[in-house]
Amino acid sequence: MLISEILHNETESGAPMLGDHLAMDLLNTEARDNGQAIEFWNSDAQVLRWLARYDITPASEGKTMPSGELLTQAKALRALARRLITEFKDGKSPEIGELNQYLQAFLTAPTLERDPNGQLMLSRISRSDSSGALLGPVAEAVAQLLVEGHVALIKQCEHPDCILWFYDRTKAHKRRWCSMALCGNRYKAAQFRKKKQ
Ligand SMILES: [Zn+2]
Repeated sequence: MLISEILHNETESGAPMLGDHLAMDLLNTEARDNGQAIEFWNSDAQVLRWLARYDITPASEGKTMPSGELLTQAKALRALARRLITEFKDGKSPEIGELNQYLQAFLTAPTLERDPNGQLMLSRISRSDSSGALLGPVAEAVAQLLVEGHVALIKQCEHPDCILWFYDRTKAHKRRWCSMALCGNRYKAAQFRKKKQ
């Protein structure tokens, strides 16, 4: 299957979920194919669908936000995350003030719940439906990456035409591709063609 076909399918179902970290998948809502930029976020609805795939849903149905607000905020958070993560990876000390604004807009309350086996668990649930509440868990993932992440494990796919990111959780830390199906095989096929010539 061609990468453009795979990415096209992904475009229909949403951005790739192969970053192994929510902060990486946030950056992967922008991709590239044949030098062409692919934007997975073009509307509030696309952002909402993306969030829902990570179980981030509005606290209550029916409440409306100003049209386009979620999209604008989500893209701003993504641009901020890209800058912070790149600086972090480059050994610079990132400017944290702006990220704190997203974190502080994420109002949650501790909530005691029972899991399907009846065990008690303590979780936090969002207390509002604002875009800040929806993007809060994403901002938190970015913050967690900056606090707990290992710089060497924050990687970008080695394929020259690919800009996807991932957090390398493999045991040997030798992951090189966003996915074998997308870029690993493209690379192998290119090597095979080289050998044949
Ligand atoms: Zn790739």
